Amino acid sequence: MKIFKCNSCDYASVSSKYTCPKCRSGKLEAQEVSPEGTVFSFTDIHIAPAEFADIAPYTIALIQLDEADVKVTARMDGPVQIGDKVALDKMEDGAYLYTKL
Ligand SMILES: [Zn+2]
Repeated sequence: MKIFKCNSCDYASVSSKYTCPKCRSGKLEAQEVSPEGTVFSFTDIHIAPAEFADIAPYTIALIQLDEADVKVTARMDGPVQIGDKVALDKMEDGAYLYTKL
């Protein structure tokens, strides 16, 4: 998975920006890291937006990556608990789909 890390402070994110939003001077540089991580928090979605109504209820998790100080918001393929180890299953319509290890 590609992340973007500032070359002058500790900021990192999965979204690309031209300059660092934290120190406002650094440049963000792409870096490839493992998509594996740990569930930091999660929410069960019971009432979904129309395009996801057919898959509700589902779980959205905030995942702390193992190899970088970055959190990723992803849809889970099943129930999770905080602290569960998870891995990227696939990308779907630009969204991360994660599965429990
Ligand atoms: Zn910075």
